[in-house]
Amino acid sequence: MKLAEKIKYQVPIKAVLDKLGVKEGALGYFCPFHKDETGSLIIKETDNTFKCSVCKASGDQIEITKKVKGFDFEQAIEFLAKEFDIKEDKNEGILDDWLSNRDKRETLESVFGKETEGEISEKDREIYSYISENTSLSFIHQTFLEKKGFDNALIEKLKLSSIEKPHLFVEELKDRFGIEALDKAGLLNRKREFVFQKNNLIIPFFENGEITFLAGWDISGGRYEFVFPHHKTKKCYIPQLEEKEEIYITGDFRGCFAFLKKNCFSVAAFGDFEKLLQFKGKKIFVCGDKDEKGQQFNRKIIKFFAESGVNYTIGGFENCFTDYLDYLTFKRK
Ligand SMILES: [Zn+2]
Repeated sequence: MKLAEKIKYQVPIKAVLDKLGVKEGALGYFCPFHKDETGSLIIKETDNTFKCSVCKASGDQIEITKKVKGFDFEQAIEFLAKEFDIKEDKNEGILDDWLSNRDKRETLESVFGKETEGEISEKDREIYSYISENTSLSFIHQTFLEKKGFDNALIEKLKLSSIEKPHLFVEELKDRFGIEALDKAGLLNRKREFVFQKNNLIIPFFENGEITFLAGWDISGGRYEFVFPHHKTKKCYIPQLEEKEEIYITGDFRGCFAFLKKNCFSVAAFGDFEKLLQFKGKKIFVCGDKDEKGQQFNRKIIKFFAESGVNYTIGGFENCFTDYLDYLTFKRK
């Protein structure tokens, strides 16, 4: 593996920012490329990238080193390799093996064009359940949700939590379940690091009162990224709340939570649509966003309902939720 690639995979962007003297605020880093008093630069530890929500500067560990130090590419590589003791080696390491196997697997998938994501095993469920039950909601997430109008009873019922120290927690998980089981459960990324980060709100999925799946929702810095365990068939998120006669079907947590906090029963249909059939006979609203992605979602759900003989109405939010689309948009002071 080349030096630049090794840096990319092995040097955490967090460590690079520390080395470069970029300071961290409550929600993000203080962007060195514009006058930043709020901490607008958000890092993504799963793929070692950064992005400033204000001046739009973005890139990886090498890019930020170039920019902060005024280096060219070669100089940045040399600097990072020296600082983090990364040496070029020609031996195929375990990481390379793993990466090349992964690439093969992905190629096969793309050749056959099939959904080959795995089902969730008993062991996976056990791990997801352990994670949810052994974490609690961080102060930042609690405050965020309260500001957005969630009451504590709802937060409690949804069993939302955060992982304050993911790097320590993943070690605990490795000790308890073994690294292979974590990998099988899709909880390690391609660098074999924990997929969930400090910023992720951990949302457990339930079936008959048991935790069956997990997702992370990055609600920091105005980004809305969902993190699911890798290579697992995504599920419908059906909250454990008292069911109502009206069911609002959305395509993501943002929409779903916007309805939930208004005391409406809402589902985020990420996959496994058969689960939606339990609502047959109720008044169902299909509520994808107005953008192209949302419309695609609507078409997919409508096709499924039409084939399954389920009655539905498109939309339904406009009268009651005029600000549905940006309901949870994070606003900085
Ligand atoms: Zn900036």
